[in-house]
Amino acid sequence: MNSEEISKLEKAGKIAVETIAYAKSFIKPGMLLIEIAEKIEKKIEELGGKPAFPVNLSINEVAAHSTPLPDSKETAHGLLKVDLGVHIDGYVADTAFSLDLDNSSENKKLISATENALKSACSLVNQKSKIREIGSTIEKEIKSLGFQPIMNLSGHSIEPYNLHAGFTVPNYDNSQEKTLPSGVYAIEPFATNGSGKIRDGKPSSIYAITKSGNVRDSFSRSVLLYIRENYSTLPFCTRWIYKKFGSRCIVALQQIEQVGLIHQYPQLIEINNGKVAQAENTVILLKDRKIITTE
Ligand code: MN
Ligand code: MN
Repeated sequence: MNSEEISKLEKAGKIAVETIAYAKSFIKPGMLLIEIAEKIEKKIEELGGKPAFPVNLSINEVAAHSTPLPDSKETAHGLLKVDLGVHIDGYVADTAFSLDLDNSSENKKLISATENALKSACSLVNQKSKIREIGSTIEKEIKSLGFQPIMNLSGHSIEPYNLHAGFTVPNYDNSQEKTLPSGVYAIEPFATNGSGKIRDGKPSSIYAITKSGNVRDSFSRSVLLYIRENYSTLPFCTRWIYKKFGSRCIVALQQIEQVGLIHQYPQLIEINNGKVAQAENTVILLKDRKIITTE
């Protein structure tokens, strides 16, 4: 990685940190989720970045992949995960925090479990640590507070315009003796008072381009072109497309999805409807040092 790439990653991280501070300052129970999402995404742009994906606002048993629809009336409550991404020319910072909007001691404990796990994993991780050791640290911290890590959600390597590149950073000891090569990684512990697994839920309205190709309908083609030009291979959502094209975009997105040019992510739900907390940082691992860009 050269210094220009590192500085773009650091800039994205800095914007993410400022945006989180801003989000924490205004999110209150009862606020419309759509208002929260739009304020956060607007802030990222004001600070000179672009959202690397739609802000995820996932509540209670919804672990991830939830963002408001254009007509959403849902309000903030419960255990709210705010997962946001910033990119500078495709160089991504991916970070998340959780808020207890119920004044619940169980929620607060779940949040502490993920924060402790993230802190331990971030201080441990380097090019000599085995992948299983990072997972095991996360697992131990979460279990020590009496909860379960979510086994089938994990951290991931990040490449330019590619949020989930090849490597997995597990949230449990997965027996992987290998170490992590130089690169950018998201570490993201999830803790639950449920079973520790997620299943696919309803469609999330969050999509990403999966392959090149075209659609016959000319309006759908212009929507597809807009997606390619503005988001490349990074995720986007119905809400963003609706802002540009209005309600006609709903059918266009369906058409584009039907021919397999975009993929819609399902919401991710804890299998036992347990409450889920999340914390996340992005780390650059270099040969001789690491940089946590979102701290
Ligand atoms: Mn994230
Ligand atoms: Mn992530």
